[in-house]
Amino acid sequence: MGKKPPLPPWLEHAALVKKKMKYRGFKMADRVQICQVCDEYAEETWSLKGGQGMGGRDICACMNCGRARSWKGQGAGRVVEEPFDLMGFLGIAAPARG
Ligand SMILES: [Zn+2]
Repeated sequence: MGKKPPLPPWLEHAALVKKKMKYRGFKMADRVQICQVCDEYAEETWSLKGGQGMGGRDICACMNCGRARSWKGQGAGRVVEEPFDLMGFLGIAAPARG
């Protein structure tokens, strides 16, 4: 029996992550884009529209290699967070390893 390389925790819980993202009001973009890390068309983009006086948030997450990035705010004040702790953001406890 071969040992699979460990997946990023949020990929192991992809269905739960998507459910939580929708619950938070994120909308998934229609298009999947190419991931700059693994070169697969697997990077999904989620957007949250900001309310009045609040910046929105965009999250890019690769369903293949698990790369996750997030942008907060709008315009010049936009700050990228990479790597982005998607599990922590959504309040999903990472599974214990070992
Ligand atoms: Zn990737």
